[in-house]
Amino acid sequence: MKKVSLSIVAALLAAVMTLSMTVFAAEPAAVKTVQEGSLNIATNAEFPPYEYKEGDGFAGIDIEIAGAIAEQLGLELVVNDVEFGSIIGGVQSGKYDIGIAGMTKTEERLQSVNFSETYATAVQVIIVKEDSEIQSVDDLEGHKIGVQQDTTGDIYCCDDFGDDMVTEYRNGAEAVQALIAGKVDCVVIDNEPAKSYVAAAQGLKILDTEYVTEEYAICIAKENEDLLAAINGVIAQLQESGALQEIVDKYITAEEAE
Ligand code: GLN
Repeated sequence: MKKVSLSIVAALLAAVMTLSMTVFAAEPAAVKTVQEGSLNIATNAEFPPYEYKEGDGFAGIDIEIAGAIAEQLGLELVVNDVEFGSIIGGVQSGKYDIGIAGMTKTEERLQSVNFSETYATAVQVIIVKEDSEIQSVDDLEGHKIGVQQDTTGDIYCCDDFGDDMVTEYRNGAEAVQALIAGKVDCVVIDNEPAKSYVAAAQGLKILDTEYVTEEYAICIAKENEDLLAAINGVIAQLQESGALQEIVDKYITAEEAE
C-alpha cells in the first residue's frame, strides 16, 4: 500500500514538473528592456561581415545573432546604428539594451558594462599596400598607423607605438581610404572586416602576422543581470544547436577564414 502511494506521488510530481516546464518553455523569459516589447541594440554598421547596411536595413553576423536573441526572448529587434565609441556609454546609461558590434571583451570595458559569454574569436591584423616595406608587427615602429577610433586596435597601437603615430578614422573604410591615399602606411583592424576592405580595394594585402587575438561578446548594463543571464542562455542554445555556426558560415566561407 505504501509503495503504491509513493509511486502515485512520484507520477504526480513528474506530471507537475513536465507541465511547468512546458509552461516555462512557451513563455518568453521576462526580461526588462528599455522599451517594453523591444530589444534595442546599439551597433556600428560599418563593420562587415558582422554589421553593415543593406538596402534600407542592416545585415551581418551580429544582426542575425541579435535577431535570434530577440526572437527567443519574444521581443522585437530595434537596430540603432551609432558611433562605435558611443555604444558602451549608451548601454551604461540605459539608452540601449545591448551593444553588439564585433566588440572585444576587455578588462577596461568590464569596468563599465557586463559582457556575455564569448561568441567569436578575432585577430587584430595589419593591412598594407602590396609593395609595403612593413612585413610584420615588428616593423610597425616609426610608421604611420591608421585605425578606427575607440577600437582595441586604436588603444593597442597608441600604447605600443605612441599617439603621434596613430591617426583615428570614423570607421575602417575611411582608414583604408587613407592608406590607399598614402596618408598612413598601414591600418590595424579586426581580421574579418580587414578581409572585406581588402577584397573591395586594389593593391592592398593583409600581413600574415597576428598582432593581438581577442574575443567578441555582447555588452549589457551592469544592473540588468536578468538580461545577461537570458542572453547567455540563448548564446549557449545557438552554439549547441549549430545555429550560430550556420549564421557565421553564411557570411564567412571556410576558405576565407583560413
Ligand atoms: N573589436 C574591436 C573593438 O572591440 C573593433 C570593433 C568595431 O570596430 N566594431 O574595439
